[in-house]
Amino acid sequence: MSGKALIVIDYTYDFVVGRLPVGDPAIAIEERVAALTHRFVEDGDYVVMAVDLHEEADVNHPESRLFPPHNIRGTSGRELYGRLKEVYEAKAGRIHWMDKTRYSAFCGTELELRLRERGVTELHLIGVCTDICVLHTAVDAYNKGFALVVHEDAVASFNSAGHSWALTHFTGSLGASVVKG
Ligand code: ZN
Repeated sequence: MSGKALIVIDYTYDFVVGRLPVGDPAIAIEERVAALTHRFVEDGDYVVMAVDLHEEADVNHPESRLFPPHNIRGTSGRELYGRLKEVYEAKAGRIHWMDKTRYSAFCGTELELRLRERGVTELHLIGVCTDICVLHTAVDAYNKGFALVVHEDAVASFNSAGHSWALTHFTGSLGASVVKG
């Protein structure tokens, strides 16, 4: 047990090229997201796919007033994108799939219990969007006392200013290591 875990956030078809697309910045990290996922699995670290889940026409969900429908249950938009899907399928059973319904991977999920029971103290975050779901997950992780590593070359946003701001927030306010390569 290494005490490390990799949380792969929302790297799905809808968020890369689908119904709520980050687009080119998300496509650009495809290989890195897949390579990091492969490496953490091979190293025996705990790896979690934290994947947004929404219901069709859920008017009570706060995101329904903010974003077009995305990652709807049962749709192909929720499938992992590109090379990450290949890695996930190749490592069947060694990667934990975890649905989430809010920005933070901790909100309304059993993520913290799963990390604590494995003795995880250091979270590595990758995926999209840097300044929304990655950010909110990082803030919750900080408040819960986890050490944070954000892989700069494996996070992306449709908002380049928000992406840059979030990277400075990770280091300056959350004490994270922001690394690449
Ligand atoms: Zn969502």
